[in-house]
Amino acid sequence: MELQDLYFRNTWLEIDLDAIAHNVSEMKKRLMNSEKIIAVIKANAYGHGDVQVAKAALESGADYLAVAFLDEAISIRRKGIDAPTIIYGALSPNYVEIAAEQNLTVTVYSKKWILEASRILREKNLRIKIHIKIDSGMGRLGVRSSEEFHEILNLIDSEIFELEGVYTHFSTADELDETYVHEQVEIFKKIIDSMPCKPPMIHCSNSAAALRFENIRFTAVRFGIGMYGLTPAVGIKNLLPYELKPALSFHTRLSQIKKVTAGSRISYGARYQSKEDEWIGTLPVGYADGWLRKLTGQEVLVNGKRVPIVGTICMDQCMIRLPFEIENGTQVTLIGKNGNNNISVEEVAERLDTINYEVVCGISVRVPRIFKRNGKIIEIKNGLF
Ligand SMILES: *Cc1c(COP(=O)(O)O)cnc(C)c1O
Repeated sequence: MELQDLYFRNTWLEIDLDAIAHNVSEMKKRLMNSEKIIAVIKANAYGHGDVQVAKAALESGADYLAVAFLDEAISIRRKGIDAPTIIYGALSPNYVEIAAEQNLTVTVYSKKWILEASRILREKNLRIKIHIKIDSGMGRLGVRSSEEFHEILNLIDSEIFELEGVYTHFSTADELDETYVHEQVEIFKKIIDSMPCKPPMIHCSNSAAALRFENIRFTAVRFGIGMYGLTPAVGIKNLLPYELKPALSFHTRLSQIKKVTAGSRISYGARYQSKEDEWIGTLPVGYADGWLRKLTGQEVLVNGKRVPIVGTICMDQCMIRLPFEIENGTQVTLIGKNGNNNISVEEVAERLDTINYEVVCGISVRVPRIFKRNGKIIEIKNGLF
């Protein structure tokens, strides 16, 4: 075994690639033959592990990959993934040469960008695939006016650029009120309809839209949060067309257990005080792992039972209150199934006043990832070596 296949700490993430495969193939079943799945693997696949998720997604019906910026794209190329990959963030034209050499697809979001990129690529005699991004109401990246869009079309020299796609992004696809999504679709459609020649990839749907609205998929969907088995928003969970299977679970092991007498203080600030004689367990996980300080009071699972975190969460450790003495080394589940019980990412997100996306993206590289496929461990990735 390579050193990076090992880990020595008692805290780990389990990534169930069978769940990724399920979520992708169920999406694929619902698409028309010509509709493609772009698997969104930015942010180390939402914390799950970019290359491993990319492979599982591609095997299960995904056609394309998407990342946020060039470094993420290079990361998967270095790991041997040569599937078509789009960078949907703003790439500096200065680096368009690197993107072309890596056979990446880039996003055109302004007239200025295409002018600068043209100059550089022409000089180097390189060609690159592009998707033009329309800002139909998100107010983030993209072209806002039809005039600028057509100016860009006219600037596309097919010796330098292969216009493969046009896309936009929704800001409210995960909300119950559909009004604004349809307004965005109308703006997008108008621009598409004005194109004399349509590119093969036209896409607007993120997971929420891909799962909810089958008539606005155009020719591809961008599948992110749903691929990880997480609902795009708690409010639309019961509108989803199939059961999403969460891929990630987060575990640790009891490092010490002690009986403290009534009135004992626990952790920084001495904020927790035991009401009676209590069993206190120490866990080797803390805020530097993404298990944030606000999670004091959150429950974790021990032998299938819920027990609370007590006292301030430290950088590398935190404490729980146990009903009775439990053996050192006992597995404790922070997220996922343990016995007949389960703690969802959404439960943790609610405690943190945030969304499931932020919780999984925030689990740090200090936590080794264990990948399972067909129920067996196939890879261990220690992010520190
Ligand atoms: C992150 C992102 C997605 C994926 O969104 P999900 O809600 O995770 O499916 C799709 N498109 C763009 C442009 C994004 O930034």
